[in-house]
Amino acid sequence: MAPKYINFHFEKKGEITEELELRAKEAFFLAGTVLEKEWGVSGPIDITVSLQDDASFRGGQTTGPESWKYCFLMEDPRKITVYCNIEIFSVLPDDAEKMIKHETAHLVVNSLVGDLATIRRSYFLHEGTAGLDGATERFVTKMKPTFAKGYGEAKKENVTEVRDPLSMKSMDDIRGDTNKEPFIDQIDYLTIFSAVEFLRKRIGERKIIEVFKNIRENGTIEESYERICGEDIGVVISEWEKSIKSKLM
Ligand SMILES: [Zn+2]
Repeated sequence: MAPKYINFHFEKKGEITEELELRAKEAFFLAGTVLEKEWGVSGPIDITVSLQDDASFRGGQTTGPESWKYCFLMEDPRKITVYCNIEIFSVLPDDAEKMIKHETAHLVVNSLVGDLATIRRSYFLHEGTAGLDGATERFVTKMKPTFAKGYGEAKKENVTEVRDPLSMKSMDDIRGDTNKEPFIDQIDYLTIFSAVEFLRKRIGERKIIEVFKNIRENGTIEESYERICGEDIGVVISEWEKSIKSKLM
């Protein structure tokens, strides 16, 4: 069942079984339908989905995901396209749908903000609005064992504390490694996803888009948030941190 406003255009590259093609289409349709509701989409958005077999995906991208073990999706905002390696369904069967929703969400949010390069406005909001269903739960589950090991062990693994998500200002600030785990299991991404999940509950999706839209050229999210919401985003983030810590104790 296709979504109401999001028009998916599917392309195929390489060998893709009919069964996998159907599963992929269903995943994108479902993601689109849910995203429309969540973000209040009310006008058409065209998104191209290029379904590819592993060889095409690993070999065909200019930025070279061939060496990224757990990279199965790439979005190209300029072409409003998601490249989807069909292997995602066999390698990460439990998470494929969530990952597809994340990548699709980038393009939906870009369209609502009216800027293809939302990544330059705020990396935190760019990744956080794409998000992940159940992010906070996943984040806490992942942090817990490391916390339980105590400081010495945790320090070795570099996760002694809950990081300030606003301090992650570009991809370079993310410590994840796509060879070790898919992005939705990387602690820094989960930190951002969880914090924006908290923000969405607090101010709602419409306001989030307003904040995103109103980040001025060379301006900051802090500034825009203050203007739109009349409160300090730093204070909100400390509340989020407190709630995470209480779940970790
Ligand atoms: Zn992303």
